[in-house]
Amino acid sequence: MSTSLLSDANRRLERALKYVKISEDASERLKFPKASLKVSIPVRMDNGSLRVFEGYRVRYDDTRGPTKGGIRFHPNVNMDEVQSLAFWMTFKCAALNLPLGGGKGGITLNPKELSKFELERLSRGYIDAIADFIGPDVDIPAPDVYTNPMIMGWMMDQYSIIRRQLCPAVITGKPLSMGGSQGRDAATGTGAFFVLAAMMQKFDKSPHETTVAVQGFGNAGSVIARLLFEAGYKIVAVSDSQGGVYCPDGLDIPSVQQFKNAARSVKAVYCEGSVCSIVENHQVLTNEELLTLDVDILIPAALENQITAANAADVQARYIFEVANGPISADADEILEAKGIYVFPDILVNAGGVTVSYFEWVQNRSGLYWTEEEVNQRLSRMMVTEADKIWRISQELAIPLRTAAYVHALDRLGDALNAKGTREYYVG
Ligand code: GLU
Repeated sequence: MSTSLLSDANRRLERALKYVKISEDASERLKFPKASLKVSIPVRMDNGSLRVFEGYRVRYDDTRGPTKGGIRFHPNVNMDEVQSLAFWMTFKCAALNLPLGGGKGGITLNPKELSKFELERLSRGYIDAIADFIGPDVDIPAPDVYTNPMIMGWMMDQYSIIRRQLCPAVITGKPLSMGGSQGRDAATGTGAFFVLAAMMQKFDKSPHETTVAVQGFGNAGSVIARLLFEAGYKIVAVSDSQGGVYCPDGLDIPSVQQFKNAARSVKAVYCEGSVCSIVENHQVLTNEELLTLDVDILIPAALENQITAANAADVQARYIFEVANGPISADADEILEAKGIYVFPDILVNAGGVTVSYFEWVQNRSGLYWTEEEVNQRLSRMMVTEADKIWRISQELAIPLRTAAYVHALDRLGDALNAKGTREYYVG
């Protein structure tokens, strides 16, 4: 079986195409990225040496609007990954009915090895290299794995220097003081929480009797963990790239956050004396062990391909909410389905980030800024409306939720692609 992420993504598309009336032209178009750019970025390092980094930006499909998607700084970034992530963004934006297409970018590096000065030079160098490929009406980047508001601010500033005018709408996820939106930083986790809370009402289980494991305690995972904790769910395990902790009686998430901030690793946190007194009976566990815990809800909120054909049979959770992009491989889908596990897919669950990015872009263009309450009200309404539609498609067609989400997005993408003319239109 191919290990290419893009071919995995296309398998999902093929599956959904069986349930949608869409022209052959449209489905053929969606199999290929519109434009892919690979650049080299020379950076002067603090010790005086020159290091050249590889960067990417992909615009997958812009039929419904300018392409939109994050920029990732990670050692595994490569063209296949960036194209797949841009493919997912296309379907994510369509599933949420945003007037945007799908894009993605990244630089291959371990950002933790760079100083702040080097990171700034790299971020600005990346924009120098891709400036002609992006723009407020063309392609609008945003944060993704290991990029943050400060990096978005440097990038917007660099783009504005190149264009010799202030261009806040070229990038989203900026600091508030540079045209960022209220609620954007927490939006992925907040949006995922809205979907989870709405969907769990369909099952006869109260938050207090629902156990949850969260893989990944970063920008998205830590927010949803906190919101679930506040809503009364019992979070029994969390992890980060160093490892995780398990406590059957439930973890005190605000303390985990506090110690994570101080110690920068959940595992290290839990080995500190003071934390052990907060979380009794805790147990250190690996990321792999967390995925197969006997819990009600599993939330993969780290990287892609965490649940594959190798471990899917061992997953015990009844519901999975994909907060990361692509945490389950296409092979694993079928195994989880056979076990009767409900998988709420990434293109719905984690769409809160791009939805508030869309709000930020709208605010930048209109010059009128919204309160956090307004942002979250709109976010909740959009996420819950589309989640309900996807749930209904899944029930009516008796298909998994992931396929239903693709069917839902394909309906909208198909309409837009068909409107440009199809074989039937030209040949008659
Ligand atoms: N990187 C996020 C995602 O994968 C957000 C993209 C955006 O805000 O444009 O959805």
